[in-house]
Amino acid sequence: MNTAVFPKTTETGRIPELFGSMVFNDHVMKERLPKETYKALKKTMELGKHLDPSIAGVVANAMKDWAVEKGATHFTHWFQPMTGITAEKHDSFISPEGNGTVIMEFSGKELVKGEPDASSFPSGGLRATFEARGYTAWDPSSYAFIKDNTLCIPTVFCSYGGEALDKKTPLLRSMEAINKEALRILKLFGSTDVTRVNTTVGPEQEYFLIDEKLFEKREDLKLCGRTLFGRKPPKGQELEDHYFGVIKPRVAAFMADLDEELWKLGIFAKTEHNEVAPAQHELAPIFTDTNLATDHNQLMMETMKKVAKRHGLACLLQEKPFEGINGSGKHNNWSISTNTGVNLLEPGESPRENAQFLLFLTAVIKAVDEYQDLLRVSVASAGNDHRLGANEAPPAIVSMFLGDDLTEILEAIETGKAYSQKDKEVMKVGVHILPRFPKDTTDRNRTSPFAFTGNKFEFRMLGSDLSIAGPNIILNTIVAEELSQFADELEKAADFNEALEELIRRTIREHKRIIFNGNNYSDEWVKEAEKRGLLNLKTTADALPSFIAPKNIELFTKHRIFTTAELHSRYEILMEVYCKKLRIEALTMSEMARREILPAISKYASSLVKTALEKKRLSEDLPAVYETETARRLSELSASLGEKILKLEDDLDTAAAISDIGEQAQFYKERILIDMAEARADADEAEGISAAEYWPFPTYTELLYSV
Ligand code: ADP
Ligand code: MG
Repeated sequence: MNTAVFPKTTETGRIPELFGSMVFNDHVMKERLPKETYKALKKTMELGKHLDPSIAGVVANAMKDWAVEKGATHFTHWFQPMTGITAEKHDSFISPEGNGTVIMEFSGKELVKGEPDASSFPSGGLRATFEARGYTAWDPSSYAFIKDNTLCIPTVFCSYGGEALDKKTPLLRSMEAINKEALRILKLFGSTDVTRVNTTVGPEQEYFLIDEKLFEKREDLKLCGRTLFGRKPPKGQELEDHYFGVIKPRVAAFMADLDEELWKLGIFAKTEHNEVAPAQHELAPIFTDTNLATDHNQLMMETMKKVAKRHGLACLLQEKPFEGINGSGKHNNWSISTNTGVNLLEPGESPRENAQFLLFLTAVIKAVDEYQDLLRVSVASAGNDHRLGANEAPPAIVSMFLGDDLTEILEAIETGKAYSQKDKEVMKVGVHILPRFPKDTTDRNRTSPFAFTGNKFEFRMLGSDLSIAGPNIILNTIVAEELSQFADELEKAADFNEALEELIRRTIREHKRIIFNGNNYSDEWVKEAEKRGLLNLKTTADALPSFIAPKNIELFTKHRIFTTAELHSRYEILMEVYCKKLRIEALTMSEMARREILPAISKYASSLVKTALEKKRLSEDLPAVYETETARRLSELSASLGEKILKLEDDLDTAAAISDIGEQAQFYKERILIDMAEARADADEAEGISAAEYWPFPTYTELLYSV
């Protein structure tokens, strides 16, 4: 692997001091809070409880003093509404003294609860806009931090009726659910010391960097985050010379700066490298608790954009900025671990540990099989539809990769046959030790949507700009459900070991169809998956209705993740966002065609005709074939493009008149997207035969090789 040599903007020795310097973390709390307050706060954090009002004031004051010393002037409740990005409303610390002076103040009440005027956040009908008020409440399981001279307090966002209006509330609920069910299982295995089980996540983030000046010249990039026009460049990623390639100086400077900003926020930015496509890169953090990892990933995306600007670059996080070039994803590495430091998805040393590992593993297998639809829903978006199944990202079919070794072991357990040909060993759960699995990359299948990588699962279907809250809510909940079913069965068992073996065997038999170790990009897999009865929900419009399927409503309400009303509201929001995004893209397309492309084609064609006429005037036999033929083709293309834009605009009117949101989404998928593809084809052909100086915006070659 080619590791970049980063310019040293930070003295290496300063990194430990720099790390987390903008975070009101445990270290700072211990230092700045009275002992009793610190203890009470820690307890609140560990148990995920609300903060006692009697200590909130003390904590708030210490936080404020710390923040002001670091240059902060404002505070905000930082939350994650369903828009997919984070929201904040800044208030300053100043408080009038009465004599024309001010002091800096921050009360316990202000720390614990905020009331943003939340009427314009999406609620999917949960909160009528006239009762505009939702409230935010501090989530003490995530540390406060300083960003842009503002003390940010991570919060949840709810309506006054108690319904969640954000992504964090259900995420915390799902972590509670899996904690509860996993503890039941651990108890059955005789565990006495574990008091908390958390899921952990390390999200690998892909992104593109292009020159900001070129970005500014493209309305599609500015408004939609992706190009709606553009011919494939002569050189794309076919040579695969970019992956892990030497990092260019400008990019290296960006990465060094980014790392420093992230470290200050206590974010474990670890690995930076080039990705497959030109101008594409990746940043991987070290994993942490899911709640914190989610906050950090949001901050990471925001910081990437900000730091890019500082370097005259634009950071593209959209899932598919360039047609014909790999899009960007996010790999959600996920595992379950105890507060005693045991990774429950890591095969252990003893037969008992291994039996426990196998039980958690089969719970995940069953979960992924039974809730394929929800996993698909959790990554569904208009942008991601361009990636999934496009032979660069996993297909829309959810399956699971376990690798040959582990698959063989499961087969042996299921059939009771010998595990290895060599030693004829029969695997018995709870009796035998599992053989060592290779944990390195050799056994990896990069085409799988959900791969076991030795001690964790890597969920690879996420688009790059997605909040990881959604997929992790689903993962935590579906695995909690299976653990709950397992616990119900095992708690009743007369002979634990026997019941365990039988449960694992049955689960493998009933759910092994979800395991696929082959090439997920192949056409044969699509057919094979259909034979196995696996779902293939190709688009967001097809996937979203599963969110409110009766079996899923039952799941979410049983574990108190979403109420039925919350589910319906989220379904509405997701559908609406899908339609709105496509509408914005279509409108942008029509505007670019009418105001930039068609005039450019016309101008160039007329200059060609003028030249041809001039040639003719000079001499009858001066050939003007290039000019006349190109002008002819351009005229045909502009006529056709014009017609297609009219059709697109007509269809947009039709779409707007469809009242059922599900039907509207289908219409966008079946008509608008097709209209757009057809219009694009004409424009891209015209680009290929037009003089560079006439083309109104930067081409793919310019964009992709601009840095
Ligand atoms: P790659 O997939 O690029 O080969 P690694 O397998 O080393 O890289 O790690 C990928 C990501 O998985 C990293 O962000 C890492 O922190 C994360 N990861 C490692 N262990 C766990 C775990 N137990 N839980 C969640 N994420 C993990
Ligand atoms: Mg990876």
